[in-house]
Amino acid sequence: MWALTYLKPMRLTKECRVHFRNTAVIGIAGEHQVYFANIMTQMHRAFGRGGLGAVMGNKNLKAVVASGGTMIPVGRYTDIDAGLWKKVVDSMTGLKYLGTSSILGVANSNQALPTRNYSATTYEDAGKIDGEALRKHTINVNTCHSCLVACKRVTQSKKYNIITEGPEYETLMALGSNLCVNSLDDIIKSNYLCNKYGLDTISTGAAVAGLIEASEKNRTKYKITWGDYDGVHKLIEMIAKRKGIGAELAKGAAAFAQKHDVPCYTVKGLDFPGHDCRGLAGQGLSYAVSNRGADHLYSMEYMEEYGNPERTIITGKAKRVVYNENRNAVLDSMALCKFSVRFYTMDDYLKILSKITGSMEEKDMQMLGASIVEMERRFNCKRGFDKKDDVLPEIMKPSGFEEELKSYYRLRGWTKNGCPE
Ligand code: SF4
Repeated sequence: MWALTYLKPMRLTKECRVHFRNTAVIGIAGEHQVYFANIMTQMHRAFGRGGLGAVMGNKNLKAVVASGGTMIPVGRYTDIDAGLWKKVVDSMTGLKYLGTSSILGVANSNQALPTRNYSATTYEDAGKIDGEALRKHTINVNTCHSCLVACKRVTQSKKYNIITEGPEYETLMALGSNLCVNSLDDIIKSNYLCNKYGLDTISTGAAVAGLIEASEKNRTKYKITWGDYDGVHKLIEMIAKRKGIGAELAKGAAAFAQKHDVPCYTVKGLDFPGHDCRGLAGQGLSYAVSNRGADHLYSMEYMEEYGNPERTIITGKAKRVVYNENRNAVLDSMALCKFSVRFYTMDDYLKILSKITGSMEEKDMQMLGASIVEMERRFNCKRGFDKKDDVLPEIMKPSGFEEELKSYYRLRGWTKNGCPE
């Protein structure tokens, strides 16, 4: 069982006759407590970012298994309007057509695709690794439980004789454009290896990108160049097993950048994902204030900004960031996929919530979300985080950032130092 990231349903021991239905497992990376190790489910799905796999590894906890098949009745959930399902069925978004890889071309044309260790925001070879290109490797679609969107792509690399799920957009960025790897076969293999070892693809890519920049600048003895996909594959294994230079990279891009004097692209220690705030200024505010660091899903401001003529202006965006953070905190608590914001309106969410909890209005949902965000913030502030941590790297900071940060604190009712009273 050790070293696996997928456990087939099995009888655990002679005494323990549990035939489980699903598992949350750590791989070799979690066992070695790599700072950005994931918890994996269903072989290819990850509870990523932030290193929860390392926490399980530290506690010598290999897996959590679930068994049983009894339905748990939740309020009057079954009464929910069939119209909500129809909305998803009828919609034709890029997400249904190409999965999250559909975002890559959009990010590139909006100057928001991190490239060459975040030193650029457009990639000259974007067309070789975008959603249309990935279609040629796609052999099936997959979905989460009961979801009609089915945004998951089952892909094949004949070059490596691999069938896997993904890469998602963030992986195409982190192990593609940000490392200047322009071949999908090679990115599919990197994605496959990260899943096999249980590594977060964004943070793995960021750590390797930092190493390549250090190598190019002669700030490390380890040699690797942009686009060296064989070198990337080797490093992924070295990180997971903490071997050689991999032991340093396993502590994350921020620690590596500090030691080797290369630029650090993180907020609160978490690496930037693929919606660069030089093209999406409001997303920059969201990255800076997010309680878990550079997290694109905390408010999903990027979805409001792609294609918007005001996307590079930060002024006036704090109000929407607060609103969407509150909404997303509730969606997380409902265990509802955040991509649902592409299909559902606020009225739809209120309809679902009201069926479960009794009548709920928009202001109630906002208050609920705000209390979750504030609880997280209190936790952070008690551990020494404050305004000094709500920052962006200088080259990513949009003009007017400081003023908008003040507006954000004001709207939240927090002190000028970014903490609740
Ligand atoms: S639940 Fe979300 S991530 Fe899963 S298939 Fe549906 S849209 Fe995609």
